[in-house]
This record gives sequence, C-alpha cells and structure tokens, in this order.
Amino acid sequence: MKDYLSTALWTDDEIAFRHEVRSFCQKEIAPIADEIDKGPYPRELLKKIGKAGYMGVHHEKSVGGTNRGLSYEIIVAEEISAVNGGLDMARMATTTLYGMPVARFGTPEQKKKYLEPIVSGDLIGCIGITEPDVGSDTAGMKTRAEKDGDEWVLNGEKRFITNGSQADYMCAFAITDPNVKSKEGMTAFIVDTKSEGFSVVQDHDLLGMKSARVSWLKLEDVRVPSDMVLGEPGQGFHILMDELDSERTAIAGEAIGYARTPYEIAVRYSTERQQFGRPIRAFEGVSFKIADMAMKLEAGRALTLLAARMYDRGEKITKEASIAKLYTTEAAIQVTNDALQILGGMGYTTDYPIERFLRDARLMTIGGGTAEILRFLIQREVFKEFSL
Ligand SMILES: Cc1cc2nc3c(=O)[nH]c(=O)nc-3n(C[C@H](O)[C@H](O)[C@H](O)COP(=O)(O)OP(=O)(O)OC[C@H]3O[C@@H](n4cnc5c(N)ncnc54)[C@H](O)[C@@H]3O)c2cc1C
Repeated sequence: MKDYLSTALWTDDEIAFRHEVRSFCQKEIAPIADEIDKGPYPRELLKKIGKAGYMGVHHEKSVGGTNRGLSYEIIVAEEISAVNGGLDMARMATTTLYGMPVARFGTPEQKKKYLEPIVSGDLIGCIGITEPDVGSDTAGMKTRAEKDGDEWVLNGEKRFITNGSQADYMCAFAITDPNVKSKEGMTAFIVDTKSEGFSVVQDHDLLGMKSARVSWLKLEDVRVPSDMVLGEPGQGFHILMDELDSERTAIAGEAIGYARTPYEIAVRYSTERQQFGRPIRAFEGVSFKIADMAMKLEAGRALTLLAARMYDRGEKITKEASIAKLYTTEAAIQVTNDALQILGGMGYTTDYPIERFLRDARLMTIGGGTAEILRFLIQREVFKEFSL
C-alpha cells in the first residue's frame, strides 16, 4: 500500500518518526481501541504515550520534549487518531491545548513545575475557555478573577472542558479588568484542580469521543497564587489567540487520522464485496467516492503540513491554520460518511469501527472554532491581504 509518505512533502526523519509512532499505536492502542471507547481512557496509557516521547515533540528539551516542532505533532495526532480519536483528543488537550500556552508564555520555573510532568505523561492538563454562556464569542467571557493580596480569586464556570474531570492543572482564562475591552482585560492562569472551590458539575454524555472525558466545571472562590499567572495580567486574550493557531493545526492532523482508517477499510471492502457478479468497486458510484476520499486526504494533509511548517518557522498562521482545520474537519465527516456508505449495512454495525470514527469526526467542525467562525476568520484575513 502506498503510504502517504512522499519525500516531496515530508523529511526522511519525519517519515521514520511516523513509522515509529504507527508501530507504537498498533502495539499499545489498536488492541484496546474499541474497548477504551466505552471510556474513560486508562491514565496509564497517557503515561505510556508520554514515556514514548509523543507528548513532547513540540516542547523544549528543558522540559523533557524533543523540540522537533508542530510538523511532528501533526504526525502523532494523525497516527493516534487513526486508531482512537478520543484518546488523541485527551492527549492533545493536555500537551497542546494546555501545554502550548505554558510553553510559550510560562517562566522557566512555571515550565519546570507545570509543564515537565505533562510532557512526561505523569500529570494531565486541560484548557478552560468555553463557558455555559460563552462559546464562539470568547471575548464575552464571564469568569472573573479579582486580586486579593498576593493571590487571585476566581469565580465562574467552564463547560465542555476536555480532560476537565481528569486534569491536575487547567490553563484557565478569566476577566481581570471588566472596565476595559476583554481583549485587554483577560488573564490566563494555571489553576491546580485540587484547589478548594474547584468542582466538577458533570462529565458530558457525548455522541463520540467516548474514550475522553469532557466536563462542566465550577470555580467558586478558587485562590490562585500570583506566580501562577501566565504571562502578564491583561495578556490573556493574546495568549488565547496564539494557542488557537497551534490547536487548529493539530486538530487538522487528527481529522486526517479519523478519515484515514475508514478510507482504508472502504478501499479493501470495495474490492472484496461482490454484488451483481463483480466487486462493488467496479461501479462508479463506489469507485468515484474512493477517488474523492483520496483527494480529500491528500489535500488535507498538504494544507495541514503547510500550516505546521510555517508555524515552526515562526510565521503567523491564523489563515493557514483555519483553512487546514476547516478543510480537514469537513473532509473527515464526508470521508467517514462515504466509507460507511460503501460498506452498506455492515458500515452501520459496530463490526467495523467506521461508525465510531464518524461519531468522533462529527465533533471537529464544532470544537476549537466552529466551521462558521473559521470561515469568518479566513475571509477576514483575505480582505486584510487585499488591504480592503
Ligand atoms: C467534545 C467537546 C470538547 C471540547 N473541548 C473544549 C476544551 O477542552 N476547552 C474549551 O475551552 N472548550 C472546549 N470545547 C468547546 C468548543 O470549543 C465550543 O463548543 C465551540 O467553540 C463552539 O461554542 P458553542 O458550543 O458555545 O457554540 P456557539 O458559539 O453557541 O455557536 C452555536 C452555533 O452558532 C454559530 N455561530 C456563533 N457565532 C457565529 C457567528 N459570528 N457567525 C456565524 N455563526 C455563528 C456557531 O458556528 C454554531 O453553529 C469543546 C466542545 C466539545 C463539544
């Protein structure tokens, strides 16, 4: 089988790394991929992923990472998601969604204490942006933090927080100055989830991503020492926007993973399954679907790698990350749905994992910026390029 590993796109080292991650996934995750979909993922598995080095490809060596960059993170994201989507959502929430703000805005002391154990997989992180009344409109955030001596006191609720009930630390965003626009009055905090006043309202019951835990959290007078502020007070919105660029690129990598396995199953099934005296791939209604699926996978992978390479070169990627996430997540829903169609009734059963990947893929035009918000961002960048 051609292995999507063209050296025209990927370096030899990236290709070798992909093979290594794929073998790890086959050995450690594939045998229990259906089982862990009943949730939650075993904490030991995240530790194993950390020990194998797959939490730290985009983190500095000083915190136990390998400093290879986002182009390696999208490989890990694709390979694990191709086996179990919810598990990678949990891995990515801890190492990228929580990890990148700490990596890029934390002091050396904060990184040592609050990032190193995340990269090793020993502790778990989450990011707290979304609230019951605040989704796409992040600037409308309601959670407040008030200074009291050398501490901040946080009050509010966070909803749909991946790893929320499992996490040791949350990177939480709160309004610290309600008298200015949120863009200047928001601050990012590292919150210890064992703090008094931090509670889990519930884990949400989800359509897919069943191996992960996604939670509704409450913060009631949670006291956070000043040395757990990330960056400067008032810098929160900037930190949030910076995080979303790496998150969206990494999610695009995941989306290729959800689509890839159903595609591979459909290609084989369409050759083996006979109707009207021939393999069903002989019918264009089936084989043209395969052509479209292959095109979407290849195009999505190239768009995602472009965003990752630009990020690794220090370039601003708001447009490229939004395009990569929008394209791959919509493609993943189409590809998984087409794959299910190609398997007919068998696709609708749990004998094949396609229904699981379809359920998982459905999330990703919602989480991390909805398809509508991404279209808004892309057109805004386009008009900026035209100075219009
Ligand atoms: C499984 C799961 C995991 C998640 N993990 C996390 C996490 O770890 N941390 C975290 O902070 N959040 C997380 N989220 C939250 C996620 O990022 C939000 O659900 C998402 O940003 C959308 O917000 P919302 O659900 O409140 O939808 P809303 O913002 O209420 O949007 C509802 C609909 O209106 C549309 N809409 C809104 N505004 C506009 C507009 N201006 N133009 C056009 N259409 C618009 C949206 O596109 C959408 O279709 C998670 C969500 C889920 C479901």
